Amino acid sequence: MNNIISFAEMVLGSEMFGFGYEFGRPAVFIFNYPIYLYAIIIVTGMSIAIALSAYFFKKRGYDPYDICIYAIVIIPFAILGARLYVFVFPWDGSAIGDWSGFFTDFRNGGLGIYGGVIFGYISGYVVVRAKKQDMRIVADSIMPGLFIAQSIGRWGNFVNQEAYGPVIENPAWQWFPFGVNIHGTWHYATFFYESLGTFIGFVACLFLVRSKHYKLGWLSAFYGIYYGLVRLFVEGLRTDSLYLWIGSTMTDIKISQLVSVVAILLGLFTLSVIYRKELHSLYSRLFKSEYHEVSASRFIVGAISGVSLVIAVVMFVLGGETRFLIGLLFALIALYSFAGVFALVDRLRLYCKKCGKRNEPEEGVITENENLTVKKYVLIAGIAVTGVAGLAFIVSGIVTSVPNQIVLGVALAGVCVALSVMLYGTAVKLNGAKCDLTAREKECRCDCGNVYKVKLNKFLLFLFPYKVYMDFGVENLKEYVDPEAEERKRKKAEKKAAKTDKNAKID
Ligand SMILES: [Zn+2]
Repeated sequence: MNNIISFAEMVLGSEMFGFGYEFGRPAVFIFNYPIYLYAIIIVTGMSIAIALSAYFFKKRGYDPYDICIYAIVIIPFAILGARLYVFVFPWDGSAIGDWSGFFTDFRNGGLGIYGGVIFGYISGYVVVRAKKQDMRIVADSIMPGLFIAQSIGRWGNFVNQEAYGPVIENPAWQWFPFGVNIHGTWHYATFFYESLGTFIGFVACLFLVRSKHYKLGWLSAFYGIYYGLVRLFVEGLRTDSLYLWIGSTMTDIKISQLVSVVAILLGLFTLSVIYRKELHSLYSRLFKSEYHEVSASRFIVGAISGVSLVIAVVMFVLGGETRFLIGLLFALIALYSFAGVFALVDRLRLYCKKCGKRNEPEEGVITENENLTVKKYVLIAGIAVTGVAGLAFIVSGIVTSVPNQIVLGVALAGVCVALSVMLYGTAVKLNGAKCDLTAREKECRCDCGNVYKVKLNKFLLFLFPYKVYMDFGVENLKEYVDPEAEERKRKKAEKKAAKTDKNAKID
């Protein structure tokens, strides 16, 4: 085991038991084995996060021990994701293509929080589905812990003397923790700003869950928007940021700023889902009836699609990596709203031509089985899209000789192919013998006596679900009671009762 230590400089004790530096990083030495202070701080943060999540689990009626199952699944995936993040988006050109140290050099560090959060969220979702729990409750229980873990974890960067900003020239600002002294030069203490920012986020979480207006999903949305903003600011100052590489070209896009923008957009999207009902009722006020609303929306959504398409084309033509990404986003909006026009045209068929009332077919607009069929295809296509796009970016990290345009082209083509497969696959499946949708017309009976037939496209119904307002206000606020502890208590009480009974008899 002695060969583990290569560059130890001891400060206290010996390499057997002591404290010192290994490769210039502070570490505790136990039995000739160095444990980096960085790791100790990260693990402390994680432990506090788990304990805090268990507390919120209990408060919300879930077994607090369930958090162990989440931790066992989430933590390894989160570490893998954090590790992948720095390899897929290497921070300097020389690291590109060198994946040899991915596993072997694990102890040498290199973790990206965002990679951990993304992989952690996905693996957590799998457990939620397996345990049939509510993702909104689980996510909201974990968020305060995540904030505090990040707040503590950033001090790991402090002990490693990394993640700092540019030099502070003005002596008036050369003090800790505004600045940090790195080998005699004062730098902006970006690690501290983020630590403070996430700590404020943690405190805000505690206030948010206690609010009487609290809705499920608030904390997830808050994390996306708030941490996105904090990171956007901190990353703007940092000098050691990871940049996005496309092919052999290093772009001027800081990858964490890009992910921050996506996180903020996802947070805003989550909020819009939570307040969907309220937003819709505001929109409805613009029209005199529901029929008019659907009818007019066709043109509004069509206009959004057209404008987005124009923006996308302009961005693609102008060129450049940032514009390419913005263009891609608008192309997706154009595509989605284009499908939305067809969904609205489809939906208009539900209205009675005589009196204008909306009538649902007796057996409902979509059966559970049909819904599942469509979901399956959307899932397959989703995996295909992510796979192809991910591959394109990973390839850009492995093969340095691939020109930028080719990688971008492959990514775009991959997305297009996957979308076509999704649309074609769904259409074939839905039109097939098992799920004959176009042939079957459903009957609508109106109160005015009019009976009419409608044909609805299930795929469009899946993409644009019909007035499903999830209630984000319901939450199991009854505290969790451990059935075993309850049983023990009951037995104890019984014993006591028996004893007093016995005593009474003796008397
Ligand atoms: Zn009618």
